[in-house]
Amino acid sequence: MPFQPLPGDQPSCTVACPACGHRWLVYEQQLGLLGPCPACGAAHPRYMGSVAPGGGRQVSFGIFRTLLAEPRLLTLIGQALGLYPLDAERFADAQGREVPLEDVHYALQGDAGWQGQVYNLHMSRAR
Ligand SMILES: [Zn+2]
Repeated sequence: MPFQPLPGDQPSCTVACPACGHRWLVYEQQLGLLGPCPACGAAHPRYMGSVAPGGGRQVSFGIFRTLLAEPRLLTLIGQALGLYPLDAERFADAQGREVPLEDVHYALQGDAGWQGQVYNLHMSRAR
């Protein structure tokens, strides 16, 4: 599934290539899922920090993974996407086909209502 940010989302996180030093901006929900450096292709980028205050309600892939321990997130994934858990980090559709965890993350991040529910779960755990 290609990544599709919501209209209100902004790329706010700086990443840098440890091999060539190339820097660029990504969306928070892409953190943890970035491919090799687009400039040199030699290495995966490292997160350098956020340049803009997080105005949106996006969460990174890493945070999403930690939230999988929350029954409420499993309920959301089931109701919103029609997926059921195979084990801690694997989901399948109604036909029993496994759906990559990255796709689950991006699907939830691609809908404002679902994105907000994931964000609220994250904030309720952070307290
Ligand atoms: Zn590079």
